[in-house]
Amino acid sequence: MDFKLDNHFLELRADVDRTNRPRQVLDAFYSYVEPRVFTDSKLLLSSESCAMLLGVSKDQFHSKYFENFLTAQLNLGMEPYACLYGGHQFGHWAGQLGDGRAITFGQVKGLDQTYTIQFKGLGPTPYSRAGDGYAVLRSSIREYLMSEAMAYLGVPTTRALSLALSGEFPMRDRYYNGNPKKEPGAIVCRVAPNFIRFGSFEIFAAREDLINLKILTDYTIEHYFPEIKVQDKSDYIRFFEQVAQKSLETLVHWQSIGFVHGVLNTDNMCITGETIDYGPYGFLDAYDPSWTPNTTDAQHRRYRYENQPNIVLWNLLKLANALYPLCEDAKAFETILNRFKLQFEQQMLQKNKLKLGLYTEAATDESMIESLFNLMFESKADFTLTFRKLSELNRSQLTFESIKDVFYIDSMTDKLKNQWIDWLMNFQKRLADQGVDDLVRQEKMKQHNPRFILRNYMLEEAIQKAELEDYSLLTELSELLKTPYHDNPKADQWIVVKPNTAGDSSLSCSS
Ligand code: AMP
Ligand code: MG
Repeated sequence: MDFKLDNHFLELRADVDRTNRPRQVLDAFYSYVEPRVFTDSKLLLSSESCAMLLGVSKDQFHSKYFENFLTAQLNLGMEPYACLYGGHQFGHWAGQLGDGRAITFGQVKGLDQTYTIQFKGLGPTPYSRAGDGYAVLRSSIREYLMSEAMAYLGVPTTRALSLALSGEFPMRDRYYNGNPKKEPGAIVCRVAPNFIRFGSFEIFAAREDLINLKILTDYTIEHYFPEIKVQDKSDYIRFFEQVAQKSLETLVHWQSIGFVHGVLNTDNMCITGETIDYGPYGFLDAYDPSWTPNTTDAQHRRYRYENQPNIVLWNLLKLANALYPLCEDAKAFETILNRFKLQFEQQMLQKNKLKLGLYTEAATDESMIESLFNLMFESKADFTLTFRKLSELNRSQLTFESIKDVFYIDSMTDKLKNQWIDWLMNFQKRLADQGVDDLVRQEKMKQHNPRFILRNYMLEEAIQKAELEDYSLLTELSELLKTPYHDNPKADQWIVVKPNTAGDSSLSCSS
């Protein structure tokens, strides 16, 4: 198994210190590290489609040699390193953060582009601060399953190549109640074009290290935005504009499937727009725009569903501040930022029209969409199931009776029920008026309204079983996530509202 290495990140300057001593790393972009080599690690899951991206053949994928790589028992002669970055966390500048429990092994020429291969959970790095650099099974299961699920949902995301047990048991205070216990440790191998974050630029700007800020920006443009050839300062504006577009595209995807990231700090924003760092994320169950899955954020709800557009914009503003010294054109940055809100609203409207199978222009569409969301909120309708039901029913079936399984309330007031009946009648009429074949409309709608999503209670059940060494549900979910838009009968048992017994789907930030 020989990867075709293309380690261009290593052309940037390395930290001269090669120890794992926690420290501020200055005048460098990364630090070489010695990852732990495990001997008792065990592969639980691996993603063939992710491996294919890297140019790994089927035979290689199933080989013992590749398994040894994925379980961190050998490193294929790569030169592992941990990257420097900073970030704004929950609205406040947090200074240097960096790869505290992630180690990059190298960049590989893949099928269509160069990919970066990174392991999580291989021990401390200079950026580990108070952490130990290891990862536990529960958070690793969540990262593996959801990043793969997002890829199949069509959302820009980092990928997961594998999930393994490390064979060790790090101590964690899982419930933040001063009661740390040993938990099964795990290793996730993840893959993305790059792992450069907004915070990678912010750290140099905060330190007024303009030389390295420029080097990183030029590097990023050369490798990830090659159509921009930096000739003068205005090219940095074009770069920022493209980052804003990519972030917007991902944001519209999240909103359209009810995904809440949970920790949208600037160190968790990839410069090329992929969803990154899967922590306390979640999908909306009952439609509630103020919902956040992150218990650590329960008080201010900064990262709640409806606030994600504001937060992505806020994060872009922080990136603009960081890039400003390279071109000093505040007006140009402002123009891009000012456009963002309107662009989001326009794109969201288009997306919602696709979700509802509306392909022509009608003056009433916006108010029809707004009424639907109001009704969904008032009647606690499940976000995913409501849209999927509307996709699966033919026009004449679009009645209140046919959607009654999507609600989280047992009895509905007559007023609300009548509002639903009116809305469904209007919707039927709107569909009839546009003159699109109903079967075609249903099939197209299904492409925008997933049937199978990984809800937190499902992940929790898979985690609880896996912690008892029963990996059956983990494996089952890892298969089901590959067909989120299909009428896959194997998923049938999961296509229901979240059970009453399932709790509130929220989690803390713990790693
Ligand atoms: P995250 O919440 O995963 O975005 O991580 C925020 C920061 O904390 C990053 O700098 C991580 O590298 C660091 N971090 C999180 N968990 C650990 C850990 N177990 N050991 C060391 N650093 C960690
Ligand atoms: Mg992070």
